[in-house]
Amino acid sequence: MVYHRSLRLAENFYCYIWQGMGNNCNASLWCHVLRGKRPHVLVDPGHIHDEVGEACLDSLTEAMNKDGLNIEDVGLIIVTHSHPDHFEAAPAIAERNKSLVTLSKEEDDFYHGIGNRLYEVFDAKLPHTSPFFHLKEGDLSLGTSNKVNIQVLLTPGHSPGSISLYWKEEKVLISGDVVFWNSVGRTDLPGGSPSQLRSSIDKLSQLDVEYLIPGHSTEPGKIIAGKQKVTQNFQMVKMFV
Ligand SMILES: [Zn+2]
Repeated sequence: MVYHRSLRLAENFYCYIWQGMGNNCNASLWCHVLRGKRPHVLVDPGHIHDEVGEACLDSLTEAMNKDGLNIEDVGLIIVTHSHPDHFEAAPAIAERNKSLVTLSKEEDDFYHGIGNRLYEVFDAKLPHTSPFFHLKEGDLSLGTSNKVNIQVLLTPGHSPGSISLYWKEEKVLISGDVVFWNSVGRTDLPGGSPSQLRSSIDKLSQLDVEYLIPGHSTEPGKIIAGKQKVTQNFQMVKMFV
């Protein structure tokens, strides 16, 4: 069963919008960018299974297959933060593919502290993979000839080491659980901070964005598309954070 809706935003970029009944995140994929046998870069693979038993990872795998892409060809997995609904499937893919996993140092430290208790709370499989390298704020170049230059932004508040990814060339922003359509990430879980979330939202709202891909779609099945809609959404959410 495929619960992800595929949306191709650029020749080498797809997002996979979660449309199941249970909780899982939206995933994003740059395809054919890395050198070598596993050229795809996957962001936020999500759950393996969610709380209502939907096979989230199988769904993502099938959704990619429909686009002619194999999850076995993912060489790098970037996670915006360590919550189970974003991170759980990462080690499962990484172990199978021998692919690399990365997140920020701040998030890695949190995850190895109290952050992994969330896995008990949400009855998720605790990933044991250590990141191959840590993401820092700044530029990150993916690949060589088909190079994709993205900007990593530290955007704590929902989780202490949350990152967002900005792809200036296509004006794409992957915001993890910082900002949604008409809503923002929760700050009541361990590591949450309303004041940090506010600062992170201020930071993201400065960017020139045409496509905002939130970690979850509060407007079912959709991302936030169009500069005007993105700007209006930032204005709206700033009123209640
Ligand atoms: Zn989260």
